Amino acid sequence: MIATNPDKNLLVDRFGRQVTYVRLSVTDRCDLRCVYCMCEDMTFLPREQLLTLEEMARLGKAFVDLGVHKIRITGGEPLVRRNILKLFRDLGQLEGLRDLTLTTNGTQLARYAQELKDAGVTRINISLDTLKPDRFHALTRLGDISKVMAGIDAALEAGFERVKLNAVILKHHNHDEIMDLVEFAHGRGMDITFIEEMPLGVIGDHDRAEAYYSSDDILRDLQQQMELHEVEDNTGGPARYVKPAGSPYRIGFISPHSHNFCDTCNRVRVTAEGRLLLCLGQEHSVDLRRVLRANPTEDEKVREALLASMAIKPQGHEFALGGQPVIFRHMSVTGG
Ligand code: SAM
Ligand code: SF4
Repeated sequence: MIATNPDKNLLVDRFGRQVTYVRLSVTDRCDLRCVYCMCEDMTFLPREQLLTLEEMARLGKAFVDLGVHKIRITGGEPLVRRNILKLFRDLGQLEGLRDLTLTTNGTQLARYAQELKDAGVTRINISLDTLKPDRFHALTRLGDISKVMAGIDAALEAGFERVKLNAVILKHHNHDEIMDLVEFAHGRGMDITFIEEMPLGVIGDHDRAEAYYSSDDILRDLQQQMELHEVEDNTGGPARYVKPAGSPYRIGFISPHSHNFCDTCNRVRVTAEGRLLLCLGQEHSVDLRRVLRANPTEDEKVREALLASMAIKPQGHEFALGGQPVIFRHMSVTGG
């Protein structure tokens, strides 16, 4: 169905889908080098190419004025960006923004969790693919799991509405820990979501097709050990959820290889350089940095650019495994 946008106060695309959720990448840098996300010797963007924190706050306000009610801050690792709390504080004050969330690797959370809560962050997703220190070090090429564990403790103590774990499962790397990860998350009162690896960016010698472990594989493994019930969910996202019998906590599955979520897609992404991506799996984009810098005070121009972008939001994505990546940008650039 091709629809026109009758309401110039909302972001509605040609297919009648309203954008209410923005994922904003605040840096492409990171203190880890997860094997599925980055190569070992990454070249990062020069600082002047990144949006400033003020530009990001301006953009956030423009989105919220157009009906966006959820913003997720991601990266790279958001908490390595200098003065990042200022952005959280600015966004946290926007009227109309119901949900200000963060995706983080958790290494800096012990320091920042309480200030993030005070700034208005409602929910946090922490990425953790293994419970084993050696494995964590190997999967992240640099990491010390004790920092993430301290970060999880701090996040749970700070009193967010929700703290959730995200885990990417890779065959022969961590697929034997699926059950342990569920028990760890649920035992500490957290939901957990398993993410299928996506072919984003060239990442060195890690073989994606070889490591691919599907959501169906994960579900099958879990069903051998526990009774699971489907949970209704209407977030418009790519996740589906189950719950173990008698448990209040969820297990989610993000399966980007299946197309089934594109019809209800309600989200766009902004890269750290200010490129508005209309679809994770396609290259359609708008250079918002140019718009912001050409119009340092005229917010109407930013609003017009956002409304106009709805004409190029594609209907769906096309991912494939093996061979060359379909999309050459890394997840750390796109914002996971
Ligand atoms: N650094 C933060 C973190 O790790 O949570 C935020 C950015 S990271 C790019 C966001 C999420 O994307 C993480 O949960 C990470 O595991 C996931 N991710 C990164 N590369 C991926 C890929 N190629 N396929 C699937 N998920 C990926
Ligand atoms: Fe860094 Fe997150 Fe990518 Fe890991 S997944 S390298 S923590 S940005």
